[in-house]
Amino acid sequence: MVESNVPLATLHEQVVARFTARFGQPPHWVAAAPGRVNVIGEHTDYNDGFVLPMAIERFCVIAAAPAPAGSRGITWFDEIANAAVEIPLDAPITKGSPSWANYIRGVIAGFVEQGKAPPALQVYSLSTVPLGGGLSSSAALEVATATLMEAVRGEKLDPVAKALLCQKAEHQYAGVPCGIMDQFASALGREGHLLLLDCRSRETQAVSMSDASVSVLIINTNVKHELTGGGYAQRRAQCETAARTLGLPSLRSATQPVLDAARGKLDEVVYRRARHVIGEIDRTVKAVAEIRAGRWEAAGQHMYASHASLRDDYDVSCEELDVVVDIGRSIGMAGGVYGCRMTGGGFGGCAVALVQTSKVAEIAARIASEYEARTKIKPTLFLSRPASGAVIL
Ligand code: ADP
Ligand code: MG
Repeated sequence: MVESNVPLATLHEQVVARFTARFGQPPHWVAAAPGRVNVIGEHTDYNDGFVLPMAIERFCVIAAAPAPAGSRGITWFDEIANAAVEIPLDAPITKGSPSWANYIRGVIAGFVEQGKAPPALQVYSLSTVPLGGGLSSSAALEVATATLMEAVRGEKLDPVAKALLCQKAEHQYAGVPCGIMDQFASALGREGHLLLLDCRSRETQAVSMSDASVSVLIINTNVKHELTGGGYAQRRAQCETAARTLGLPSLRSATQPVLDAARGKLDEVVYRRARHVIGEIDRTVKAVAEIRAGRWEAAGQHMYASHASLRDDYDVSCEELDVVVDIGRSIGMAGGVYGCRMTGGGFGGCAVALVQTSKVAEIAARIASEYEARTKIKPTLFLSRPASGAVIL
Protein backbone atom coordinates (compact mmCIF):
# COMPACT_ATOMS: atom_id res chain seq x y z
CA MET A 1 0.00 0.00 0.00
CA VAL A 2 2.84 2.35 0.90
CA GLU A 3 5.36 2.74 -1.92
CA SER A 4 8.97 2.42 -0.81
CA ASN A 5 11.64 5.00 -1.55
CA VAL A 6 14.67 3.83 -3.51
CA PRO A 7 17.69 4.68 -1.30
CA LEU A 8 20.04 7.34 -2.62
CA ALA A 9 22.93 4.85 -2.64
CA THR A 10 20.94 2.61 -5.00
CA LEU A 11 20.08 5.55 -7.27
CA HIS A 12 23.77 6.40 -7.33
CA GLU A 13 24.62 2.88 -8.52
CA GLN A 14 21.82 3.00 -11.11
CA VAL A 15 22.87 6.31 -12.59
CA VAL A 16 26.51 5.18 -12.84
CA ALA A 17 25.52 1.94 -14.58
CA ARG A 18 23.10 3.61 -16.98
CA PHE A 19 25.49 6.44 -17.80
CA THR A 20 28.21 3.92 -18.54
CA ALA A 21 25.91 1.81 -20.73
CA ARG A 22 24.83 4.85 -22.75
CA PHE A 23 28.12 6.69 -23.17
CA GLY A 24 30.66 3.87 -22.99
CA GLN A 25 32.67 5.45 -20.18
CA PRO A 26 31.98 5.84 -16.47
CA PRO A 27 30.86 9.25 -15.15
CA HIS A 28 33.34 11.56 -13.43
CA TRP A 29 30.75 13.40 -11.36
CA VAL A 30 27.40 12.52 -9.76
CA ALA A 31 25.11 15.01 -8.00
CA ALA A 32 21.69 14.63 -6.38
CA ALA A 33 18.99 16.95 -5.08
CA PRO A 34 15.73 16.05 -3.32
CA GLY A 35 12.13 17.03 -3.91
CA ARG A 36 10.32 18.56 -0.96
CA VAL A 37 7.01 18.43 0.82
CA ASN A 38 5.63 21.52 2.44
CA VAL A 39 4.15 20.75 5.88
CA ILE A 40 2.49 24.17 6.19
CA GLY A 41 2.81 27.71 4.82
CA GLU A 42 1.28 27.46 1.33
CA HIS A 43 1.33 30.29 -1.19
CA THR A 44 3.14 32.38 1.40
CA ASP A 45 6.66 32.32 -0.07
CA TYR A 46 6.02 34.91 -2.78
CA ASN A 47 4.33 37.06 -0.12
CA ASP A 48 7.54 37.27 1.96
CA GLY A 49 5.95 34.96 4.56
CA PHE A 50 7.03 31.81 6.41
CA VAL A 51 7.06 28.30 4.98
CA LEU A 52 7.82 24.94 6.61
CA PRO A 53 8.99 22.41 4.02
CA MET A 54 11.28 19.41 4.35
CA ALA A 55 13.40 17.67 1.75
CA ILE A 56 12.04 14.19 0.94
CA GLU A 57 13.69 10.85 0.20
CA ARG A 58 12.96 11.28 -3.51
CA PHE A 59 15.78 12.59 -5.66
CA CYS A 60 16.88 13.83 -9.01
CA VAL A 61 20.29 12.22 -9.63
CA ILE A 62 22.60 13.32 -12.42
CA ALA A 63 25.86 11.83 -13.71
CA ALA A 64 28.33 13.51 -16.07
CA ALA A 65 31.71 13.15 -17.73
CA PRO A 66 33.71 15.29 -20.14
CA ALA A 67 32.51 14.89 -23.72
CA PRO A 68 34.87 13.39 -26.33
CA ALA A 69 37.31 15.85 -27.91
CA GLY A 70 35.70 18.02 -30.55
CA SER A 71 32.26 18.32 -28.84
CA ARG A 72 31.19 21.90 -28.33
CA GLY A 73 28.22 21.43 -26.06
CA ILE A 74 26.35 19.28 -23.57
CA THR A 75 24.61 16.08 -24.59
CA TRP A 76 21.99 15.50 -21.90
CA PHE A 77 19.96 12.28 -21.74
CA ASP A 78 16.97 12.34 -19.39
CA GLU A 79 15.44 9.06 -18.37
CA ILE A 80 11.93 10.35 -17.68
CA ALA A 81 11.70 12.13 -21.01
CA ASN A 82 13.51 9.14 -22.54
CA ALA A 83 15.21 11.61 -24.84
CA ALA A 84 18.43 13.53 -25.27
CA VAL A 85 18.92 17.24 -25.87
CA GLU A 86 21.96 19.11 -27.10
CA ILE A 87 22.82 22.30 -25.27
CA PRO A 88 25.39 24.24 -27.32
CA LEU A 89 27.97 26.18 -25.31
CA ASP A 90 29.33 28.29 -28.18
CA ALA A 91 26.15 30.39 -28.44
CA PRO A 92 23.82 32.06 -25.90
CA ILE A 93 21.63 29.45 -24.16
CA THR A 94 18.03 30.04 -25.16
CA LYS A 95 14.80 28.39 -24.04
CA GLY A 96 12.97 26.19 -26.46
CA SER A 97 11.80 22.68 -26.99
CA PRO A 98 11.71 20.19 -25.41
CA SER A 99 10.28 22.20 -22.52
CA TRP A 100 11.65 19.88 -19.79
CA ALA A 101 15.15 20.95 -20.78
CA ASN A 102 14.40 24.60 -20.02
CA TYR A 103 14.96 24.02 -16.29
CA ILE A 104 18.42 22.68 -17.14
CA ARG A 105 19.16 25.38 -19.74
CA GLY A 106 18.19 28.09 -17.24
CA VAL A 107 20.57 26.79 -14.56
CA ILE A 108 23.48 26.36 -16.94
CA ALA A 109 22.81 29.86 -18.33
CA GLY A 110 23.01 31.16 -14.73
CA PHE A 111 26.48 29.64 -14.36
CA VAL A 112 27.58 30.98 -17.76
CA GLU A 113 26.36 34.46 -16.77
CA GLN A 114 28.64 34.33 -13.71
CA GLY A 115 31.63 33.42 -15.88
CA LYS A 116 31.40 29.81 -14.74
CA ALA A 117 30.62 28.03 -18.01
CA PRO A 118 31.06 24.24 -17.86
CA PRO A 119 33.14 22.33 -20.41
CA ALA A 120 31.48 20.10 -23.03
CA LEU A 121 29.80 17.21 -21.22
CA GLN A 122 27.86 13.99 -21.52
CA VAL A 123 25.08 13.83 -18.94
CA TYR A 124 22.49 11.28 -17.74
CA SER A 125 19.64 12.25 -15.38
CA LEU A 126 16.98 10.26 -13.55
CA SER A 127 14.46 11.18 -10.87
CA THR A 128 12.19 9.52 -8.33
CA VAL A 129 10.31 12.75 -7.51
CA PRO A 130 6.80 12.47 -9.01
CA LEU A 131 6.48 15.06 -11.78
CA GLY A 132 3.97 17.88 -11.47
CA GLY A 133 2.62 16.59 -8.14
CA GLY A 134 3.51 19.51 -5.93
CA LEU A 135 6.66 17.82 -4.59
CA SER A 136 9.02 20.05 -6.59
CA SER A 137 10.43 17.78 -9.21
CA SER A 138 11.30 21.01 -11.02
CA ALA A 139 13.40 22.38 -8.15
CA ALA A 140 15.04 18.96 -7.70
CA LEU A 141 16.06 19.04 -11.37
CA GLU A 142 17.34 22.62 -11.12
CA VAL A 143 19.22 22.18 -7.86
CA ALA A 144 20.70 18.85 -8.96
CA THR A 145 21.86 20.54 -12.18
CA ALA A 146 23.42 23.39 -10.21
CA THR A 147 25.10 20.92 -7.86
CA LEU A 148 26.48 19.02 -10.84
CA MET A 149 27.89 22.29 -12.21
CA GLU A 150 29.57 22.86 -8.83
CA ALA A 151 31.09 19.38 -8.99
CA VAL A 152 32.30 19.84 -12.57
CA ARG A 153 33.92 23.17 -11.77
CA GLY A 154 35.21 22.06 -8.37
CA GLU A 155 33.81 25.24 -6.90
CA LYS A 156 30.79 25.55 -4.62
CA LEU A 157 28.37 28.46 -4.61
CA ASP A 158 26.93 29.84 -1.42
CA PRO A 159 23.81 27.63 -0.94
CA VAL A 160 21.48 30.66 -0.79
CA ALA A 161 22.96 32.07 -4.00
CA LYS A 162 22.57 28.64 -5.57
CA ALA A 163 18.87 28.47 -4.64
CA LEU A 164 18.33 31.97 -6.06
CA LEU A 165 20.10 31.06 -9.31
CA CYS A 166 17.75 28.06 -9.65
CA GLN A 167 14.67 30.19 -8.90
CA LYS A 168 15.76 32.64 -11.60
CA ALA A 169 16.10 29.74 -14.04
CA GLU A 170 12.51 28.70 -13.33
CA HIS A 171 11.27 32.28 -13.78
CA GLN A 172 13.17 33.08 -16.95
CA TYR A 173 13.45 29.74 -18.72
CA ALA A 174 10.39 27.78 -17.53
CA GLY A 175 8.13 30.84 -17.25
CA VAL A 176 6.90 29.97 -13.74
CA PRO A 177 6.94 32.96 -11.33
CA CYS A 178 7.63 30.71 -8.32
CA GLY A 179 8.64 31.85 -4.85
CA ILE A 180 11.86 30.72 -3.18
CA MET A 181 10.62 27.78 -1.09
CA ASP A 182 11.22 24.89 -3.45
CA GLN A 183 14.80 25.67 -4.38
CA PHE A 184 15.69 26.54 -0.77
CA ALA A 185 14.27 23.27 0.54
CA SER A 186 16.08 21.24 -2.10
CA ALA A 187 19.38 23.06 -1.62
CA LEU A 188 19.34 23.55 2.16
CA GLY A 189 17.25 20.68 3.56
CA ARG A 190 18.70 18.95 6.62
CA GLU A 191 18.21 15.33 7.60
CA GLY A 192 15.78 14.89 10.50
CA HIS A 193 14.62 18.50 10.30
CA LEU A 194 11.89 20.65 8.83
CA LEU A 195 13.14 23.91 7.39
CA LEU A 196 11.46 27.04 8.72
CA LEU A 197 12.19 29.64 6.10
CA ASP A 198 11.52 33.34 6.46
CA CYS A 199 11.04 34.30 2.82
CA ARG A 200 11.55 38.00 3.60
CA SER A 201 14.93 37.81 5.35
CA ARG A 202 15.78 34.41 3.75
CA GLU A 203 16.86 33.19 7.15
CA THR A 204 16.33 29.52 7.87
CA GLN A 205 15.88 27.61 11.10
CA ALA A 206 16.04 23.84 11.42
CA VAL A 207 13.04 22.43 13.31
CA SER A 208 13.78 18.97 14.68
CA MET A 209 11.47 16.23 13.47
CA SER A 210 13.27 13.31 15.04
CA ASP A 211 10.32 11.90 17.02
CA ALA A 212 10.09 8.43 15.45
CA SER A 213 6.52 7.99 16.67
CA VAL A 214 5.34 10.60 14.14
CA SER A 215 5.56 10.12 10.37
CA VAL A 216 4.98 12.24 7.32
CA LEU A 217 2.66 10.46 4.88
CA ILE A 218 2.38 11.80 1.34
CA ILE A 219 -0.73 10.97 -0.67
CA ASN A 220 -0.63 11.60 -4.41
CA THR A 221 -4.15 12.09 -5.80
CA ASN A 222 -2.69 11.32 -9.23
CA VAL A 223 -4.73 14.11 -10.78
CA LYS A 224 -3.53 17.39 -12.19
CA HIS A 225 -6.09 19.96 -13.27
CA GLU A 226 -4.47 22.38 -15.65
CA LEU A 227 -6.09 25.76 -15.28
CA THR A 228 -6.31 27.89 -18.35
CA GLY A 229 -5.09 31.39 -17.63
CA GLY A 230 -2.34 30.38 -15.21
CA GLY A 231 -3.87 29.93 -11.75
CA TYR A 232 -0.55 30.40 -10.01
CA ALA A 233 0.48 33.64 -11.72
CA GLN A 234 -3.03 35.00 -11.18
CA ARG A 235 -2.89 34.32 -7.42
CA ARG A 236 0.46 36.01 -7.23
CA ALA A 237 -0.88 39.09 -9.05
CA GLN A 238 -3.90 39.23 -6.74
CA CYS A 239 -1.64 39.24 -3.69
CA GLU A 240 0.43 42.06 -5.19
CA THR A 241 -2.76 44.04 -5.81
CA ALA A 242 -3.83 43.55 -2.18
CA ALA A 243 -0.44 44.66 -0.82
CA ARG A 244 -0.39 47.70 -3.12
CA THR A 245 -3.90 48.72 -2.04
CA LEU A 246 -2.86 48.41 1.62
CA GLY A 247 0.24 50.49 0.89
CA LEU A 248 2.53 47.69 2.07
CA PRO A 249 5.65 46.15 0.50
CA SER A 250 4.07 42.68 0.75
CA LEU A 251 1.31 40.85 2.60
CA ARG A 252 3.87 39.78 5.18
CA SER A 253 3.48 43.24 6.72
CA ALA A 254 -0.33 43.05 6.81
CA THR A 255 -2.55 41.98 9.69
CA GLN A 256 -6.18 40.87 9.66
CA PRO A 257 -7.43 44.16 11.25
CA VAL A 258 -5.48 46.19 8.65
CA LEU A 259 -6.99 44.08 5.88
CA ASP A 260 -10.50 44.39 7.31
CA ALA A 261 -10.18 48.17 7.59
CA ALA A 262 -9.42 48.29 3.85
CA ARG A 263 -12.08 45.78 2.80
CA GLY A 264 -14.18 48.43 1.03
CA LYS A 265 -11.26 49.25 -1.26
CA LEU A 266 -10.65 45.64 -2.26
CA ASP A 267 -12.33 43.38 -4.73
CA GLU A 268 -13.97 40.51 -2.77
CA VAL A 269 -11.76 37.86 -4.40
CA VAL A 270 -8.60 39.86 -3.69
CA TYR A 271 -9.76 40.27 -0.09
CA ARG A 272 -10.12 36.49 0.30
CA ARG A 273 -6.72 35.83 -1.26
CA ALA A 274 -5.12 38.23 1.23
CA ARG A 275 -7.06 36.72 4.13
CA HIS A 276 -5.60 33.33 3.27
CA VAL A 277 -2.04 34.64 3.14
CA ILE A 278 -2.27 36.56 6.42
CA GLY A 279 -3.88 33.60 8.20
CA GLU A 280 -1.44 31.10 6.70
CA ILE A 281 1.65 33.03 7.80
CA ASP A 282 0.23 33.11 11.32
CA ARG A 283 -0.64 29.40 11.27
CA THR A 284 2.86 28.49 10.10
CA VAL A 285 4.51 30.29 13.00
CA LYS A 286 2.05 28.69 15.45
CA ALA A 287 2.49 25.22 13.95
CA VAL A 288 6.26 25.47 14.43
CA ALA A 289 5.77 26.25 18.12
CA GLU A 290 3.48 23.22 18.49
CA ILE A 291 5.90 20.92 16.65
CA ARG A 292 8.82 22.11 18.78
CA ALA A 293 6.76 21.30 21.87
CA GLY A 294 5.76 17.89 20.48
CA ARG A 295 2.08 18.88 20.43
CA TRP A 296 1.26 17.03 17.22
CA GLU A 297 -2.50 17.22 17.55
CA ALA A 298 -2.37 21.01 17.83
CA ALA A 299 0.02 21.20 14.86
CA GLY A 300 -2.41 19.01 12.93
CA GLN A 301 -5.29 21.40 13.62
CA HIS A 302 -3.32 24.15 11.89
CA MET A 303 -2.91 21.84 8.89
CA TYR A 304 -6.66 21.32 8.63
CA ALA A 305 -7.23 25.08 8.94
CA SER A 306 -4.63 25.65 6.23
CA HIS A 307 -6.47 23.28 3.92
CA ALA A 308 -9.83 24.94 4.52
CA SER A 309 -8.33 28.35 3.78
CA LEU A 310 -6.63 27.13 0.57
CA ARG A 311 -9.95 25.56 -0.49
CA ASP A 312 -12.32 28.37 0.44
CA ASP A 313 -10.31 31.62 0.27
CA TYR A 314 -7.48 30.80 -2.11
CA ASP A 315 -9.44 28.45 -4.41
CA VAL A 316 -6.48 26.21 -5.21
CA SER A 317 -7.78 22.88 -3.94
CA CYS A 318 -9.87 20.43 -5.96
CA GLU A 319 -12.36 17.68 -5.26
CA GLU A 320 -9.74 14.92 -5.07
CA LEU A 321 -7.57 16.79 -2.54
CA ASP A 322 -10.66 17.61 -0.50
CA VAL A 323 -11.59 13.92 -0.48
CA VAL A 324 -8.16 12.92 0.88
CA VAL A 325 -8.32 15.53 3.64
CA ASP A 326 -11.88 14.53 4.45
CA ILE A 327 -10.81 10.88 4.83
CA GLY A 328 -7.88 11.94 7.02
CA ARG A 329 -10.22 13.92 9.22
CA SER A 330 -12.68 11.04 9.50
CA ILE A 331 -9.88 8.66 10.56
CA GLY A 332 -8.95 11.35 13.06
CA MET A 333 -6.88 11.19 16.20
CA ALA A 334 -8.49 7.92 17.25
CA GLY A 335 -7.09 6.31 14.11
CA GLY A 336 -3.72 8.06 14.35
CA VAL A 337 -4.07 11.01 11.96
CA TYR A 338 -2.93 14.30 13.53
CA GLY A 339 -3.58 16.51 10.54
CA CYS A 340 -3.81 16.57 6.76
CA ARG A 341 -3.77 19.19 4.02
CA MET A 342 -3.08 19.74 0.37
CA THR A 343 0.56 20.58 -0.30
CA GLY A 344 2.27 22.48 -3.11
CA GLY A 345 0.62 24.81 -5.58
CA GLY A 346 -2.67 22.91 -5.70
CA PHE A 347 -5.22 22.05 -8.42
CA GLY A 348 -4.32 18.40 -7.85
CA GLY A 349 -1.06 16.77 -6.86
CA CYS A 350 -0.34 15.65 -3.32
CA ALA A 351 -1.70 15.94 0.19
CA VAL A 352 0.47 15.60 3.28
CA ALA A 353 -0.54 14.06 6.60
CA LEU A 354 1.15 13.87 9.98
CA VAL A 355 0.38 10.42 11.36
CA GLN A 356 1.24 8.05 14.19
CA THR A 357 3.99 5.77 12.95
CA SER A 358 2.49 2.73 14.66
CA LYS A 359 -0.73 3.15 12.66
CA VAL A 360 0.70 3.94 9.22
CA ALA A 361 -0.34 0.66 7.58
CA GLU A 362 -4.01 0.93 8.59
CA ILE A 363 -4.16 4.64 7.77
CA ALA A 364 -2.63 4.17 4.31
CA ALA A 365 -4.94 1.24 3.52
CA ARG A 366 -8.00 3.19 4.53
CA ILE A 367 -7.06 6.34 2.63
CA ALA A 368 -6.24 4.32 -0.50
CA SER A 369 -9.46 2.31 -0.49
CA GLU A 370 -11.82 5.16 0.42
CA TYR A 371 -10.16 7.52 -2.04
CA GLU A 372 -10.48 5.01 -4.85
CA ALA A 373 -14.08 4.24 -3.93
CA ARG A 374 -15.01 7.92 -3.99
CA THR A 375 -13.01 9.13 -7.00
CA LYS A 376 -12.41 5.97 -9.08
CA ILE A 377 -8.73 6.93 -9.14
CA LYS A 378 -5.88 4.93 -7.56
CA PRO A 379 -3.75 7.12 -5.32
CA THR A 380 -0.09 6.47 -4.53
CA LEU A 381 1.18 6.86 -1.00
CA PHE A 382 4.64 7.00 0.49
CA LEU A 383 6.40 7.98 3.70
CA SER A 384 9.43 10.17 4.03
CA ARG A 385 11.66 11.21 6.86
CA PRO A 386 13.17 14.68 6.38
CA ALA A 387 16.08 14.18 4.01
CA SER A 388 19.29 16.10 3.44
CA GLY A 389 19.51 18.75 0.73
CA ALA A 390 21.59 18.56 -2.44
CA VAL A 391 24.85 16.58 -2.38
CA ILE A 392 27.76 15.69 -4.61
CA LEU A 393 28.07 11.89 -4.50
P1 ADP B 1 6.54 19.99 -9.54
O1 ADP B 1 7.76 20.82 -9.41
O2 ADP B 1 5.61 20.18 -8.39
O3 ADP B 1 6.83 18.54 -9.77
P2 ADP B 1 6.25 21.59 -11.90
O4 ADP B 1 5.12 21.79 -12.85
O5 ADP B 1 6.84 22.77 -11.24
O6 ADP B 1 5.76 20.52 -10.82
O7 ADP B 1 7.43 20.84 -12.63
C1 ADP B 1 7.17 19.68 -13.40
C2 ADP B 1 7.95 19.74 -14.69
O8 ADP B 1 9.35 19.68 -14.41
C3 ADP B 1 7.69 18.56 -15.60
O9 ADP B 1 6.59 18.78 -16.43
C4 ADP B 1 8.99 18.47 -16.40
O10 ADP B 1 8.97 19.39 -17.48
C5 ADP B 1 10.02 18.98 -15.43
N1 ADP B 1 10.82 17.93 -14.79
C6 ADP B 1 11.06 17.77 -13.50
N2 ADP B 1 11.90 16.75 -13.26
C7 ADP B 1 12.21 16.25 -14.43
C8 ADP B 1 13.04 15.18 -14.87
N3 ADP B 1 13.72 14.42 -14.02
N4 ADP B 1 13.11 14.94 -16.19
C9 ADP B 1 12.44 15.70 -17.07
N5 ADP B 1 11.67 16.70 -16.74
C10 ADP B 1 11.53 16.99 -15.44
MG1 MG C 1 7.84 22.92 -9.48
